[in-house]
Amino acid sequence: MDLFFDPEQLLLRGQVRSWVEKNLISSVTREADIGQQARQLVSQLGHEGFTAYVASKRFGGVKEKVQARDLCIIREELARGSALADTMFAMQALGSYPITVAGSDKQKKRYLPPVARGEAIAAFALTEPQAGSDVSSMETRAVRDGDGYRLTGIKRFISNAGIAQTYTVFALTDPDKRAKGMSAFVVQADTPGFVFKENTPLLSPHPLGVIAFEDCRVPRAQLLGKEGEGLKIALATLDTLRCTVAAAAVGFAQRALEEALQYSQKRRQFGQALAQFQATQFKLADMATELEASRLLAYQAAWANDHNQKDLKQKSSMAKLFATEAAQRIVDQALQIHGGTGVVVGTPVEQLYRDVRALRIYEGTSEIQRLVIARSLL
Ligand SMILES: Cc1cc2nc3c(=O)[nH]c(=O)nc-3n(C[C@H](O)[C@H](O)[C@H](O)COP(=O)(O)OP(=O)(O)OC[C@H]3O[C@@H](n4cnc5c(N)ncnc54)[C@H](O)[C@@H]3O)c2cc1C
Repeated sequence: MDLFFDPEQLLLRGQVRSWVEKNLISSVTREADIGQQARQLVSQLGHEGFTAYVASKRFGGVKEKVQARDLCIIREELARGSALADTMFAMQALGSYPITVAGSDKQKKRYLPPVARGEAIAAFALTEPQAGSDVSSMETRAVRDGDGYRLTGIKRFISNAGIAQTYTVFALTDPDKRAKGMSAFVVQADTPGFVFKENTPLLSPHPLGVIAFEDCRVPRAQLLGKEGEGLKIALATLDTLRCTVAAAAVGFAQRALEEALQYSQKRRQFGQALAQFQATQFKLADMATELEASRLLAYQAAWANDHNQKDLKQKSSMAKLFATEAAQRIVDQALQIHGGTGVVVGTPVEQLYRDVRALRIYEGTSEIQRLVIARSLL
């Protein structure tokens, strides 16, 4: 594995891991006020310097260029400790990366440093009631209005809805061209006409909700790139960040394996520890093997991103598909090894069982990843 990393990245992993051990492991997230916890986590992640890895050095970050391997290392280690911490870090990256990809220096200077410091929360608003996997069904419009645009439409399933300050929003400037007529805007939550509608409670703690644009006027200076470049910006963002979803899956699966190893050596039935039954050993061996394969695919894709490899799209889709599906199987087996204890609310495997599910859906479902891979093969 170390082949993929430079010495600084190995140090980063150690740094995140020890912070996670000290601050996150063994705290099960159950409190109702997810928004409050989420805000607190972003500020902690900023204080520790972790969110700085989402921006480039000139704009408050750590390195000349944002490195997918750094983002993967941080997500893997955070996910091992807390799904919410992973989400909050991931969203700082997803919400701000379109600005890194397509923003002007002026836009980057204004929006990136507060996100990198954990002082502003970022969000990425693409999905709509009628446009999930099929973004070409988007209905949100951005109509020219003097020297700006007037946005109207609804976005659902938006992570950090209601708690973010900085939203990257995708809207049609040329509806006749469908997805190719899409543009990207930075919209601040305090803009008149920006409306937070409601929270959408999930299986696992995750700030998610619906937002609306009701004649929301944004100046032209908030357009990212040029008109019609929205799809390109969204896809470039997702191509880079998809491997980080795989890394989060690896973090959940790693924790599940650790929990299963520990429990199977402690729990005794029929006069011996569960780990002494070959049936348990085979489960553990399969879990560890799938985990290692997932980790290799995730970091191979991240390496491909950081080295501008042409097959990035295929590699990041393979990593996301395999790692998220494998993590689901690994967590399920870890729960099975725990028997009844595994389904008791509050045990780490019960929490992992809920946490891992959404990864097979967001940033492109497993089916959509298969379509991308098949397209690249054919
Ligand atoms: C926890 C979570 C966080 C999210 N955060 C964000 C966010 O911050 N910003 C944002 O914009 N969106 C976000 N989303 C939305 C997410 O990206 C969408 O849910 C996802 O793209 C799928 O869209 P959908 O839910 O509308 O499902 P649909 O597109 O309706 O799909 C339903 C089912 O049909 C399948 N399907 C669809 N098309 C095909 C096809 N061509 N071939 C085969 N099968 C197909 C899908 O794979 C899926 O199984 C989030 C979602 C979740 C669950």
